[in-house]
Amino acid sequence: MFEPFTDDVFYTKPIPGIGLPPKEQSSAALPMLGADDTSEALPCADPSLFPLNRRRSSQVEVRGVKIGGGAPIVVQSMCNTYTHDVEGTVDQIERLEAAGCEIVRLAVPDEKSANALYEIRKRTEMPLVADIHFDYRYALMAADAGIDCLRINPGNINGEERVSEVVATAKDHGLPIRVGVNAGSLEKHLLDRFGGATPEAMVESGLRHVAMLEKRNFYDTKISLKASDVARAVKAYRLMAKRVEYPLHLGITESGSLQTGSIKSSVGLGILLSEGIGDTIRVSLAADPVEEVRVGYEILKSLKLRQKGVNVVACPSCGRVQIDVDKLTMEVEQELAHIDAPITVAVMGCEVNGPGEARDADIGVAGGHKRALIFMKGEKSGLVSYEDIKKNLVERVEQLAEQYEKGQFEVTHS
Ligand code: SF4
Repeated sequence: MFEPFTDDVFYTKPIPGIGLPPKEQSSAALPMLGADDTSEALPCADPSLFPLNRRRSSQVEVRGVKIGGGAPIVVQSMCNTYTHDVEGTVDQIERLEAAGCEIVRLAVPDEKSANALYEIRKRTEMPLVADIHFDYRYALMAADAGIDCLRINPGNINGEERVSEVVATAKDHGLPIRVGVNAGSLEKHLLDRFGGATPEAMVESGLRHVAMLEKRNFYDTKISLKASDVARAVKAYRLMAKRVEYPLHLGITESGSLQTGSIKSSVGLGILLSEGIGDTIRVSLAADPVEEVRVGYEILKSLKLRQKGVNVVACPSCGRVQIDVDKLTMEVEQELAHIDAPITVAVMGCEVNGPGEARDADIGVAGGHKRALIFMKGEKSGLVSYEDIKKNLVERVEQLAEQYEKGQFEVTHS
């Protein structure tokens, strides 16, 4: 099918020490920070509350969105439309943008998809990544169309000349390249040598792809090491984090439905992020990609790594409950999804524990006898009839969000 592969860094023997560019070459292109040096805290949303030391990394930029080098962790997603369906794809990109997505990836499996990139580019300013396997020509077309980043594995495009051409094009257009290792598609010689798609085999695969770029003095690279198995992905990322200084794109691939996928991603990404590993995330779900963005932000918000949008806390309800907490929580979340301000809203089922539990929230509601109590920063602030709870809460949060944007309201960091 393909010509024999000849690139000399892709020999099947182990190559010790690849993945770290020689210091003399990299001094201009890549800040050498010391792979094990995590002693200096880089900014997270609230370091005083969550003193998390992020792994130091180099930085790449995708249409102005900075990844790595201490930048806020970027949330990205991928369209599940056919890329050649320009209308459907642009529509989905716009929905993702409205949900706060910062980078969108598009699959480019064929020529008609590559051709569609030209029209898609004209219709959106969203940073776009072209996801390409095997056919290097689509990478050249994507660059020509104005796409902002390539996801392509140089070891899979069949030959040194093609790798050199893609790298030259990426350099010309200022495009970063994401090396994306997937446990499900590792090279056969690595599977044989490591006895399967082990974390070590995934890392070796990634290092080999990276080395092919470094050989051509290309360091504008980020790396992902995805597996559907949380433990394997976590180990692979931990190992890679010690070997290179490139930014890492985290993801648990094929993680499942909205519910199971969110849980797996939260566990896997949560472990890594809490160790300071990870510069951009994609939550893979068999669901509307907009959900990926929502889950991604919830993970980051949980670790105080980003503050974006309303943080709704709700009691689980019990035999004391006076209002429909489940329904109200879901409706409030939906109605406040457009708010960017990091306001914490508490929905509590009763007034026995509600006020106490709502104390750390900016605004809260607790079910009471015949009416509900509204709390501001834990203090009682009014009574509303049951039927007016949602409207009242939403209006008040919108007012607080306006004040926050003007610097007139300080949010609680709960
Ligand atoms: S706030 Fe009230 S209803 Fe909700 S769990 Fe606590 S005691 Fe139960």
